[in-house]
This record gives sequence, structure tokens and C-alpha cells, in this order.
Amino acid sequence: MAAQAYADALAIFVIEPEWLSSPDCDSGHVEFALACVSELRAALAERGLPLLVRMGSAVAVLAQLQNERAFTHLLSHEETGAAWSYARDQQIARWCKSAGVQWHEFQQNGVIRGLRNRTGWAQRWQARMDAPLHLLEGAFCAAVPLDQPPLPTLASLGLSPHGKTLQAAGERAARRTLSSFVQVRGYGYRKALSSPLSAETGCSRLSPHLAFGTISMRTVHQATELAIRNTPERELAYALRGFAGRLRWHCHFMQKLEDEPSVEFRNFARVCDGLREDAFNTDYFEAWCAGRTGYPMVDACMRSLRATGWLNFRMRAMLVSFASYHLWLHWRHTGLFLARQFLDYEPAIHWSQMQMQSGTTGINTLRMYSPTKQAQDQDPQGLFIRRWVPELAKVPLPYLAAPWKMDPSVQRMAGCILGHDYPKPLVDDKAAMRAAKDRMYALRKTPQAQTEAAQVQDRHGSRKSGLPASGRKPKPQAPRASEIPSPQGDLFL
Ligand SMILES: Cc1cc2nc3c(=O)[nH]c(=O)nc-3n(C[C@H](O)[C@H](O)[C@H](O)COP(=O)(O)OP(=O)(O)OC[C@H]3O[C@@H](n4cnc5c(N)ncnc54)[C@H](O)[C@@H]3O)c2cc1C
Repeated sequence: MAAQAYADALAIFVIEPEWLSSPDCDSGHVEFALACVSELRAALAERGLPLLVRMGSAVAVLAQLQNERAFTHLLSHEETGAAWSYARDQQIARWCKSAGVQWHEFQQNGVIRGLRNRTGWAQRWQARMDAPLHLLEGAFCAAVPLDQPPLPTLASLGLSPHGKTLQAAGERAARRTLSSFVQVRGYGYRKALSSPLSAETGCSRLSPHLAFGTISMRTVHQATELAIRNTPERELAYALRGFAGRLRWHCHFMQKLEDEPSVEFRNFARVCDGLREDAFNTDYFEAWCAGRTGYPMVDACMRSLRATGWLNFRMRAMLVSFASYHLWLHWRHTGLFLARQFLDYEPAIHWSQMQMQSGTTGINTLRMYSPTKQAQDQDPQGLFIRRWVPELAKVPLPYLAAPWKMDPSVQRMAGCILGHDYPKPLVDDKAAMRAAKDRMYALRKTPQAQTEAAQVQDRHGSRKSGLPASGRKPKPQAPRASEIPSPQGDLFL
């Protein structure tokens, strides 16, 4: 919108080799981004603004553009990204200074740049989210279009196919997803959250859209608050309040990386340094990545994630807990693999969560999930396991969460010989959990751990008293009707 104030405006999307070659990038991310750009290009063209797509390092592309058509202002949003994009931003800042270009960065969510500590953070988040939406109206004073070759494909970028069935990309899909959730799908949200079966449609599925910016956090927040205020259904309002809280978590977790970029690589609690570094078992890692650990719920979740690019929170936490505690794998390696699998990969949330579920933040309760208990609780009929681990299709339900308990005759009847058709468990569940607990609790008792916990809490912990629960705060100004996404028939795909 700010670009409308300038004569000769041009929009540009840069496909950076640093992104494509970063170890957290997957061709699924690239395909999703290109589909979003394609829709955006058509939408901007209708308003007279050409969207250039260029390949190359950002500074090189800007310098070339400056030669083709001198410009004086660069507009972008603020990015809280991985190390490579942080380095890129610093290079751009230096280039702009030397080229006499003014760079205006706009806030895009509730993350606050240059924050000293978290006091008052929640109130500032609320104020930003309640501020009026910026609606694009009218046309641009656009520059004469430059050469616009067609968008690249994965093949032309030299990327391999990802083999996933991805959610639909682009702003229209994001708005459909939002409206179907706040009006219909949100009803059972709180109950649907934990099981991978119900979460598939019962969660909002907005995460890739928030990660790729096809919808703003403020739009989602305001549509949710409006639905809470307007619905006569107490159940829906209650469910949506739970959802509204998670929108704040999104920015709360992002703020951590913004404030301490090193947590992409380094433990929040330095007392955890050395805990897992020397214990990396490649065979365990490969079995976990392939969904062949011998624990059906772990394997079903991993295979489902690899096929769809999405998994619900509880099952993500279980996958990481299993890798970090049962298999004692370092979160950086498992985190890179998961980053490539999650279509919604958002570095700041991802690395904070990887550390939280691995016990290295120093401040959060240690949560170790038993995969057999999770199977019984979240997939009691075995539907999810049978769908994603077909080797176990005929295993009787009482054995499905723990097939190693089948004696040889049951294995034969079920057509599933352990060690042949399906792996034996990599480790013993109870023994592995006990060993992990002993190590983690012993570490947490040390004076260094306790001193560091206080420091991490001070820097990154939420100030609970300052968090107004959604719905109990003063009423924000109602958004205009045109700002609320209209209902659509389909769900989110
Ligand atoms: C190890 C691990 C890694 C994760 N990595 C990512 C990631 O890269 N990107 C990502 O968006 N989420 C991540 N999450 C958080 C969460 O699992 C996803 O946000 C959620 O599953 C996305 O589905 P949804 O949009 O349907 O969620 P909903 O339940 O509908 O939630 C709505 C939105 O709230 C935010 N949200 C929900 N739960 C959390 C949470 N625990 N922490 C922070 N924000 C949250 C997300 O923006 C989400 O889109 C991770 C969780 C774990 C345990």
C-alpha cells in the first residue's frame, strides 16, 4: 500500500540462491512460494503494478536493477528469519547506504525489533493486532514494465520434486481457510487439537499462509475476534478463544529468535552444551527420518508428515521428544530435517519449539511422550497407524501400538514378521525414557542450570500477568464488513 505513494513503482520478488541452498529449504517451500507469487503477480497486474521475478543474491539483483532503472526507495517488511536471511538484510542495509537508497521496513506481525525485555510485550502485541487493517484500494503509479520472463519451475531451478501433496497456496486460499475455520471448522478446535485424525481438519491449517505471508496475523486476529463477538454459539466462541491465544504464541515464539538469533544453532541454556553433541547415532537418525523406528505412532506421524507437509502440534512434539530423549539425537540435525518437511517452516517458531521439546531452553517443563501411550490416547482405533503404516494393516488392535508384543504365531497371522516386514523397536521405551529423565533432571539441579534458567526466563519468558486473555480485554473497534473474509463452501484446500 505504501508503494502507491511513489511514481514509477515496481514490485520485485527475488529467488535467492542462498535460500535454495540453505539446509532448511525444501522444494515444497519453493513450489508453494512460486504459486503464491504467481497469484500475487496477477492480482497486482490488475492494479497496474508489474511484479518482477529475478534470480540472484539480493544485493546483486538490486544493484543490477539500479543500473537498469535508478531508484531511491526500497520498501519491504521486517523479516525474523534464519541466519542466512539475517546476513542478507545486513548486506542490503550496507548497499542501500552506499547507493543512496532509503530502505523502509514495515512491521508485519507482533514481533518487536530492538526489544530490551518482555515487560509490556503482550499489551504492545494487542495494540498492533487491534490497529486498523491496511486495505489496498485503487491502482499504482507503476513504472513501464521491464522484461518479465515466465516464472521458473522446480526443474528449471534444478530442484528435485518434493513428492508431497501440499495445501493450496496464495491469498485466496488463505482467506477461504480462515473463513471456513472461524465460521464452521473451529467448533471442535480444542478437542480436535491433539489427535492427528481430528486435527487435520479441526485445526485452522493457516500456518503455511502465516509463514509465507499470504495472510496477515492482524487479519486472522481481527476475523477471530469478530467471530467471537458475533457468534451466538458459546461453544464456538470458547473454541476460538483457545485459537486466539495461539496466534499470540506465534509472535511470542518469533520474538525469541528476533531477540537472540543464535538459538537457531545454540542451546538457550548453555549448561546443555555437550549433552548430545557426541552421541549422534546415524542409524537411529536415518530410521527416524524414514519412519522406521519400530514405534508405530512415531512412524505413522513421520510418514504422514513426509507425504503432506503438515502435522499437528502434539504429534510434532512427540516426534521431537522421541528423537531427543529416546534416541538422544541433537535437535539441530533433527530440526533441519523437520524444517524441510514442514511446509509452514517458520524459523523462529521452529527452533524455539525444537529446543523446548528437547529440554534445552532450561525453563520449560520437561515433556517426554511415550509413543505407545500417544497411540492409545490419540489413535485408539488404530485408523491413523493403519493408514500410514500399511505393513501393520492386519495387526490386531491390541498389538497395534506395540507390535513387538505379538508372539510369532500372531505375527504370521497378521502377515507382519518383525525385523522383516516391520522393524523391531530401535530402543526400549521405558529404559530410554528413564535414562533421559535421569540425565535431564540431574542437569537441571545444578547451580549453573538454575542461574541460567532465571536469565532465560527474564529474557524470553512470557509475563503472565501482562497477558490479557482473549475476549476479556477492552473491545477493539469492529473491523469494517469488507475486511472480513467471506464464507466459502470448501474447507481449506
Ligand atoms: C517441534 C515443533 C516445530 C514447530 N515448527 C513450526 C513451524 O515451523 N511453523 C509453525 O507455524 N509452527 C510450528 N510449530 C507449532 C505448531 O505445531 C504449528 O503452528 C501448528 O501445528 C500449525 O497448524 P495450524 O495452523 O492448523 O495450527 P492452529 O492450531 O490452528 O494454530 C493457529 C496458528 O497459531 C500458531 N501456533 C499454534 N501453535 C503454536 C505453537 N505451539 N507455537 C507457536 N505458534 C503456534 C501458528 O501460527 C498456527 O498457524 C512447531 C511445533 C513443534 C512442536
